[in-house]
Formats: sequence, C-alpha cells, structure tokens
Amino acid sequence: CRRWGRAMEILQELEEKCATPTWKLKRIADAMNVEMHAGLASEGGSKLKMLITYVDKLPTGNEEGLYYALDLGGTNFRVLRVQLGGKEGGIVCQEFTEVSIPPNLMVGTSTELFDYIAAELGKFVSEESEDFKVPPGRQREIGFTFSFPVMQTLIASGNLIKWTKGFNIEDAVGKDVVEELMKAIRERGLDMRVNALVNDTVGTLAGGRYTHKNAIAAIILGTGTNAAYVERVQAIPKWHGPLPDSGEMVINMEWGNFRSSHLPLTEYDHSLDAESLNPGEQIFEKIISGMYLGEIVRKVICKMAEEALLFGDNVPPKLKVPFIFRTPDMSAMHHDSSADLNVVGSKLKNIFEISDTSLEVRKVVVEICNIIATRGSRLAAAGILGILKKMGKDSVSDVKGEKNVIAMDGGLYEHYTEYSKCLENTLKELVGDDASESIIIELSKDGSGIGAALLAASLSTQ
Ligand code: ADP
Ligand code: MG
Repeated sequence: CRRWGRAMEILQELEEKCATPTWKLKRIADAMNVEMHAGLASEGGSKLKMLITYVDKLPTGNEEGLYYALDLGGTNFRVLRVQLGGKEGGIVCQEFTEVSIPPNLMVGTSTELFDYIAAELGKFVSEESEDFKVPPGRQREIGFTFSFPVMQTLIASGNLIKWTKGFNIEDAVGKDVVEELMKAIRERGLDMRVNALVNDTVGTLAGGRYTHKNAIAAIILGTGTNAAYVERVQAIPKWHGPLPDSGEMVINMEWGNFRSSHLPLTEYDHSLDAESLNPGEQIFEKIISGMYLGEIVRKVICKMAEEALLFGDNVPPKLKVPFIFRTPDMSAMHHDSSADLNVVGSKLKNIFEISDTSLEVRKVVVEICNIIATRGSRLAAAGILGILKKMGKDSVSDVKGEKNVIAMDGGLYEHYTEYSKCLENTLKELVGDDASESIIIELSKDGSGIGAALLAASLSTQ
C-alpha cells in the first residue's frame, strides 16, 4: 500500500544520505589530517583544538605507591585507587566506585557539582582497606580525569573552555577546574591534592602505554567521543615552551568538534543539533557517539510514524519525547537475533508504548539502527585513519613486526558489538590488509581512570 511505500522511501533516502563509501572516508581522513596541522599551527587555527596536555612522558611501568583517580566526563562519575608495585610489580590492587551524577547537578552551579564529587571522594577514601598503603606523613595524590575541553598551562591546572555532552554549568566556564575541585576538597577537610589534570583520552593513552609500550594513540567512544596521540614537539608550531627531554607531547585533539563538508549529514542530524545544548558544535560527536545515536534513530522512526503512518493513524506520543530512546536500547535491538525479533518488539512496547508490531515493521527498525550505527563507526574509523596518516603510520611499516597499539575506552565501543566490529573492518578496508596487521585496537576498560592515577604517580614529587 501507499503508506508502506512512503516508509520505504524514507528508509532508502536515509541510507543514501548516510552512505560512507571508502573514497568518502578517505577524504574525511584527509580533512582530519589537514585540520590537525591547522590546529597545531596556531591557537584557534582549526575546529580541532589540538590541546597541549603538558604530558610529555607517559608511564614507564616503574610507578610505585598508592594513587587515586577521579573520572568525570559523562553520565557516571568514578573514583578509584590503585596500589602500584613499581618495576615488575604492576598493579598490586585496585578498587573503584561509580556514582551517577544527578541530572540537576549537570546544569547547576560549579560549587554544587564539585562539592558532590568531593563528598563521594571522601566517602571512598574513608573505606580504604589495609591492602592500600600510603607512607606516613604523605598526602594522598589524585589524577583528575576531566573529559571536557580545558586550556592547560600546567599539568595540574586548566581552565574549562566549554561544556559538552549534556553538561551546562555556566559559572564554571573559564575557571580552573582543579582549583574548583581543590576548594571542595578543602571544604570537606580532606588531606589530598591533585597532581595531574588529564582528559580521558590522555588517561586512556597513559593506561595503554603502561601495558603496551607501543601505544601511540587513544580513542574514546562512550557518551561522547575524542582522541589523543603522541606528537613530536617539533611538529607543534604553536608550542613555545621548552623542548621536553622526550621531544614529545601528548595532544588532546578534541575531535568531537571536527566538521567537514564531506560528513554525511541528514535532516535528522540538523534537527538534533538545533535542539541541542550546543548547536553548531561537536558535529562529529553528534553523529558517532553514544549520547546521540539512539536519538537519531528515534527521529527517523518518528518521521516514519508521521509520514508513513507506520504505527497507525496516530503517532504514538512517546515517540516524540527527545532522548527517550537510548543507545543501549538501540544496540539491544540491533543485536536481536531471534527469528521474530522479539527484543525489538518488547523495546518498542516498553519504551514507546507501541504494541503488536509486525515482523516487517521490526525489520525496518533494525535497519534504521544498522544504518545509523554503520555510519557512526565508519566515520570513527576514518578519524583514526586521519591520525595514523598524521603520524605516518597508515601504510606498511619498514620496521619488521612493528605494532602500533591504539588504546580504546568507552561504553559504546565496549558494548555495541556491531559498532566495534564495523569499525575494525572499516579500518582494515581503509589501510589495507598488510598495514592493518601492524595496527592493534586494544580495549582498555577503565583505562582513563587508571591512566590518570599512573600519571599522578609519575608526576609525584613528594
Ligand atoms: P562515559 O563516556 O560517560 O565516560 P562510558 O565510557 O561508560 O561513560 O560510556 C557510557 C556510554 O556508552 C553510554 O552513555 C552509552 O551511550 C554507551 N553504552 C553503554 N552501554 C551500551 C550498550 N550496551 N550498547 C551501546 N552503547 C552503550
Ligand atoms: Mg569515560
């Protein structure tokens, strides 16, 4: 009938608009590479901030002692402690706690947010067991993973440039987030200090380097997305500081803000962006990361309900509620392997209150998930190719057996198997079978927190 025909039209148009043929991904990788150069050349030279992190040495494996990390960056906030055993000792023990951030604190005041964090930190410290040892008279030291763009002037301080991912605490913008945290820590009477302020990408890279000395870059695919890599200081024209011994500097790309005319954008993306807290910004993030993928899918289903009456003459009201459909629900539907797609059916019922869906309709919904996840993961692979190109590691290495490890962290990559499989296959497609032998993507679960603790350890001067 006509209505089904319209649904198929919408689906086909979506597929065409979201297409990411290899040639297009290569152009996107080239554009990423160009923007990386521009961002390194001058402050404000590109949409890519290419932030200098003041991390010029990564962990060596010799780190020793008890260190804490705070990881703030998305829906959850984590506190962890690790006891490091020094050379050959490795990680002796570690513990963490995870607390969700009350939504009102994500858009409240700086003091409220940091006080909440300090309170959770205090609770966690008070539960420290005998397994963890801090020498008498020594302060407990913290690596602070803060996954928003920050302009640093030192390793242990930095001013917040802007919020992303649903946070919007106006009075914190421009302030030193370490100072804000330290104020709250002192208020709570905690005897601790922050040694290192790191982005989650940088933490993940540090964590990756601890286990793989060939870790060269890190990617986050969670609520948001970002990347960091090791750059030669000589290749950073905007760096006017002293040349570090290593000759290297970790760069936090803030690639979520990447944008290029080659990016395949649809009407759904434009509408999501317009309704977001940060219109016009973080466009790459808005098409590839976990906070947004489910929302894009919802918008497509909603259009089908409105224009093709996919669920009858009336549009189910729940379909119109922004962000009601989350990416974990999307991946559950996408992974549904039952013959009658009953996971899809029950999700449609529980989330959107749409009952009795036909198998045909469920298949269309899965196809929408597939199109949106495929576009996102292929674009993420193109971004990785851009970094590899910048580092000169996108082709077959002259060094026999050389491996380049890319440390990966984030719930999207970890749990959304169709997404991560597609990303790996796409990277292989882009660099070719031979070069892909030397590139290893390694999931480092919670790498960002542990990495921050490792950096705090390697920077400790006590
Ligand atoms: P954050 O990025 O907030 O630091 P995580 O790395 O844990 O946190 O990632 C959480 C995000 O990962 C969620 O917001 C969600 O988008 C995504 N995610 C979590 N579980 C799944 C899942 N099963 N399938 C798809 N995406 C998931
Ligand atoms: Mg995280």
